[in-house]
Amino acid sequence: MTATSMGKDFVLSVEGLTVSFDGFKAVNDLSFYVDENEIRVIIGPNGAGKTTVLDLICGRTRATEGSIKFRGKELTKLKEHQIVHAGVGRKFQNPSIYEDLTVFENLEISFPRGRNVFGALMFKRDKEVIDKVHEIAELIFLKDDLNKQAALLSHGQKQWLEIGMLLIQDPELLMLDEPVAGMSVAERKLTAELLNKITKDRSVIVIEHDMQFVADIANRVTVLHQGKVLSEGSMDKVQNDPKVKEVYLGH
Ligand code: ADP
Ligand code: MG
Repeated sequence: MTATSMGKDFVLSVEGLTVSFDGFKAVNDLSFYVDENEIRVIIGPNGAGKTTVLDLICGRTRATEGSIKFRGKELTKLKEHQIVHAGVGRKFQNPSIYEDLTVFENLEISFPRGRNVFGALMFKRDKEVIDKVHEIAELIFLKDDLNKQAALLSHGQKQWLEIGMLLIQDPELLMLDEPVAGMSVAERKLTAELLNKITKDRSVIVIEHDMQFVADIANRVTVLHQGKVLSEGSMDKVQNDPKVKEVYLGH
């Protein structure tokens, strides 16, 4: 146990995490800890291992060594769907929404109850589901677009819809990989607002390059470089860290 992990219950504790792809360590003895209600931003140059860290946490990639504890539960032994069930939601870089369905239907089929025996579209649209869909639609700025086909949404709106599809499952930890890429400045501001709102009930890990966006949301920033933590702390602290400046100037 390290000094930072003692005497405290973190939502997520990553310790000594390593993954080796044919001998190349994309993530190398990585440790970091995420608090309740925290927005942690992970930054770092291309190839630093950021996406791989999320892949490891959500069970898409198997760790070679190390531990990932989520609310005390070891995730490295679990399958992807078990990790989702434990309360970890993950958004990939490209939105995976159902383009042919409406905004309402996309949210509805993501409601957890729709996922069992009778299949996603078979359950009754009872009041609980409808209320939840409306609540989430309002949160993701799509309440006036519920009947619109998802294909007709802007790129930014599609990103929000996918965030909504995760939120309707009420994850305790939400992980987002470059959520504002391709968004307008106005959409970025709204996304920052959205993330600040949803951390009242959960923790969020965001990978992002846009420094204005990072400044708008981050409680703490972890700078990754060659699969390791190069620097960690407040935005100010990491921005003024000579090691960080060197890595970014070197690229
Ligand atoms: P980032 O998201 O920080 O840009 P990645 O996590 O995508 O970086 O990748 C980190 C490194 O690991 C890169 O060099 C990448 O080529 C390598 N890598 C990622 N996934 C795999 C994989 N499945 N097999 C082999 N190499 C991989
Ligand atoms: Mg990446």
